[in-house]
Amino acid sequence: MRKNTTNVPDLSYLQLDGAMTVFYQLNTAELVGAALKRNEGVLADTGALAIDTGEFTGRSPKDRFIVEDDITRDTVWWGKVNFKFDAEKFDALLQKVTGYLSQGEIFVRDCCACANEKYYIDIRVVTETAYQNLFAHHLFLRPEVPDATLVPGWTIIAAPGFKADPEVDGTLRHNFSIINFTKKIILIGGTAYTGEIKKGIFSVLNFILPHEKKVLSMHCSANIGAKGDTAIFFGLSGTGKTTLSADPERNLIGDDEHGWCDDTIFNFEGGCYAKCIDLTAEKEPQIFNAIKFGALLENINFIKRTRTVDFSNIGKTENTRVAYPLYYISNAVIPSTGHLPKNIFFLTADAFGILPPVSKLTVEQAMYHFISGYTAKVAGTEAGITEPKATFSACFGEAFLPLNPVNYAELLGNKIKKHNVKVWLINTGWTGGAYGTGKRMQLKYTRAMISAALSGELDNVKYTVHPVFNLQMPQSCPNVPDNLLNPSNTWADAEIYNEKANDLAIAFIKNFRRYAPFCKSEIINAAPKVTESTLVT
Ligand code: ATP
Ligand code: MN
Repeated sequence: MRKNTTNVPDLSYLQLDGAMTVFYQLNTAELVGAALKRNEGVLADTGALAIDTGEFTGRSPKDRFIVEDDITRDTVWWGKVNFKFDAEKFDALLQKVTGYLSQGEIFVRDCCACANEKYYIDIRVVTETAYQNLFAHHLFLRPEVPDATLVPGWTIIAAPGFKADPEVDGTLRHNFSIINFTKKIILIGGTAYTGEIKKGIFSVLNFILPHEKKVLSMHCSANIGAKGDTAIFFGLSGTGKTTLSADPERNLIGDDEHGWCDDTIFNFEGGCYAKCIDLTAEKEPQIFNAIKFGALLENINFIKRTRTVDFSNIGKTENTRVAYPLYYISNAVIPSTGHLPKNIFFLTADAFGILPPVSKLTVEQAMYHFISGYTAKVAGTEAGITEPKATFSACFGEAFLPLNPVNYAELLGNKIKKHNVKVWLINTGWTGGAYGTGKRMQLKYTRAMISAALSGELDNVKYTVHPVFNLQMPQSCPNVPDNLLNPSNTWADAEIYNEKANDLAIAFIKNFRRYAPFCKSEIINAAPKVTESTLVT
């Protein structure tokens, strides 16, 4: 093995002891330099590194597996999102991947996750490309003094150029992301989409924290106001976690993954991974200004004959992204922890234009909607999705949850009750009709509704009850036109609205059948009320 410095960790535990050159713990400038030298990308005019991830520009949930072993066999909720992988096949595939990586250059980085030292885990990331290592450098936390002699808690191996042979290797396709809880290894191959790296560790934490430590792990963003009031924003991809948590009036704790223990909220990560589609300095100034030297732009296009990013160009994918460390946002909280939340927002991008743009939930409704995890997926983040489609994903992140979702919901419900937290459902999606007829709620109005909820201005207004979903809808909200607050007013025909609301409610009820056997009756009773005759099957 050739080493770029003498201080290189022993990688023999991975059988990585071939003739490769190892670059250990390069800093941002060195990684950008290496990426340019290796023709992985080019610099944009703001200094950010722009790369393409190739075949995959989003995660590939069907190709994500968990090794079945003594730890996972009776604990993981196998089925819908957690697919089994054979332990021996894993060992064989690991050997093939490390053999492949032993041929060239590799980038090794020691980092960690969880901004709360009680739950801190060490992570070693071994990547085939310099830019994936830069991604890990930005998204994970940085240890004060990296220790190359340490055998890390977890190791992630990312080899995008390695293609599996499904027949021999036991994968579904040539790309894969496999978690092995016994070996503490995440093995990623055949895909260069960097999001797989961060979501791999997120899945691990979603197992370890609730199962072993009784800490709630959450797919949410978090920010904190001047008075120390924390707010958290749950939501599936594209619903607004990153966008709405970047708020100049509040300090950012984190944009995607957090833990909730007895006394604090803490970020798992050290960076942000923001969408770039239609980004403007006016609408999203903080994200826009973070796209500077060191930031990693993915799958963007430039304006012809320039190195200026054309944020409206979605020629490669709608899921264009930028990764940057948290401190690129001027008002980030470091270390990223906060007091227990006073407000929780469930974000949904309802493509049917049915759910009210802001509504207040009871504890039971909160648990019902948390377990339902409804949204309409916006194109691009997952392979094969090309237009918005209604989806349910428990806890607003079922794809990353190894345990039965009801475990997480119970932890959340207990915390909401114990700390008397207000819970709001925010529809950042369509108004005035479904996708195609209506249009997306303007960001400035969503921001105004959230501000009003946070400041307490929605505590003393009158509310209307939604006829189907039973949600409390405010009749007025500062800086938002009254007529937007009740979705039925925004539709051309209120009767059609009611019909469609009933249809969506049926979809909720059918989806919930999967979870109902594990839930108390008061949660099941928080379901929307549909016309009985329409719910036949
Ligand atoms: P991911 O889990 O993939 O990171 P996310 O929940 O962080 O997703 P964002 O990256 O914030 O989602 O994406 C929301 C997108 O929707 C942004 O591109 C934002 O500009 C756009 N958008 C349009 N209207 C709204 C609105 N009313 N509220 C929030 N976002 C909106
Ligand atoms: Mn995000």
